[in-house]
Amino acid sequence: MATLPFDNSYARLPERMFARVQMQPVTAPRLVALNAVLAREIGLDPARLRSPEGVAWLAGNLAPPGAEPVAAAYGGHQFGTWNPQLGDGRALLLGELVGPDGRRRDWQLKGSGPTRWSRGADGRAWLGPVLREYLVSEAMFTLGIPTTRALAATLTGDQVARDEYLPGAVLARVASSHIRVGTFQYFAARGDTDALRALTDHVIARHWPDADGPLGLLAAVVGAQARLVAKWMAVGFVHGVMNTDNMTVSGETIDYGPCAFLDGFSRVAVFSSIDRRGRYAYGNQPRIALWNLTQFATALVPLFDDRAAAVADLTGVLEGFADSYAQEWNAVFAAKIGLQPGEASETLVRDLLDLMEAGGSDFTATFTALGEGTARDRIADRDAFDIWARRWQAAGPDAALMRATNPRVIPRHYLIEAAITAARAGDFAPFEAMLAAVTRPFAPDAKHERPPEGGERVTLTFCGT
Ligand code: AMP
Ligand code: MG
Repeated sequence: MATLPFDNSYARLPERMFARVQMQPVTAPRLVALNAVLAREIGLDPARLRSPEGVAWLAGNLAPPGAEPVAAAYGGHQFGTWNPQLGDGRALLLGELVGPDGRRRDWQLKGSGPTRWSRGADGRAWLGPVLREYLVSEAMFTLGIPTTRALAATLTGDQVARDEYLPGAVLARVASSHIRVGTFQYFAARGDTDALRALTDHVIARHWPDADGPLGLLAAVVGAQARLVAKWMAVGFVHGVMNTDNMTVSGETIDYGPCAFLDGFSRVAVFSSIDRRGRYAYGNQPRIALWNLTQFATALVPLFDDRAAAVADLTGVLEGFADSYAQEWNAVFAAKIGLQPGEASETLVRDLLDLMEAGGSDFTATFTALGEGTARDRIADRDAFDIWARRWQAAGPDAALMRATNPRVIPRHYLIEAAITAARAGDFAPFEAMLAAVTRPFAPDAKHERPPEGGERVTLTFCGT
């Protein structure tokens, strides 16, 4: 039997940083989606993954040879409130694969059963959130936004108890790592400076080899998160649950729960049913990213001998967030209106967004229309748009740049819900069609481009477990 390219560096860290997991088999695993391209990229043979042995790996029934299943320890601020004990309660890390390209990636299962951190919950997932994360993470990847990836979705053959009984499923996902801001916080809060130092060294070696110590690490993560959130904003993505345990130190998007893409443009749009105060609203995301990074900086303080000096230095690095974010935001939004970034593009973008917000214009469709010369039809105040358009035309927009920048297809909430409903009834064709559409986001696709109408519009999403 050919071995798999595992090299489990996280499992070699001090034992108190994770818990080894006994796999909890499911009844009748059935593969419903496999990302063959990604499988090859990470050094796995898709044919082997489709075999009964491979499906058993993907469903958590059998550890692949060389895997060392662990659940990671972490804490986190949830909606601003500190929780010292979160950890992988429904996920397990099989190990790290080093692909033919030399890159190291986590192979993780989500929904694979209880661990030490399940806190009385079942450690399982149902098909809905598994398919949602599959679609959204692959869409984000295709749009060039750093993210965890979907490797496979497996039905378990078991039912999971939520408000009703639902088909159980497991998502196999891949990430450059699953280490979170909350991982650092967990050890800082316990005063475990040795573990904190081991984690810091691990993350620097693994993700930011050019970073010089904890200060350099903070600078790298601040820059990566500033760029990431600006990219979210440019596609109208609302993460929905930006708790510090859901923010990676690699700069990849992680944990697609109650996330959604904007339909009508609104800076105060919030979709998560549990986000009553709008903490994680679309327009709040950069502020929250900085708040989370401030918690990260705080967790790094114990690594310094001179703590007062460290606080001053770390604060200085945090102050760089605003510039990095503004620079990236200007770059991505200037391209959306076909311009090079500068003061002129910035004003034009803000004025256009104001017009869109005033009339609730569909975010994605309006930018697509801009590249096709039909945006006027999408703005409620046409006179104001005409004035804006004259200023814009004078700046010399590049239509080809707009067409290459603005996706036609994003994973719209109402279509995700329809795909999940069909899949629950055994029909995976809408899921497959949608996956094909969101992974070719610049190709015309009448069905998947269409903004929702009336009752199809997303109002609330629920944290998918
Ligand atoms: P998340 O919604 O991914 O941010 O999860 C928050 C915390 O709740 C994490 O520690 C998860 O592992 C845990 N959790 C969420 N759903 C479940 C579940 N069904 N069983 C056990 N733990 C869960
Ligand atoms: Mg999470």
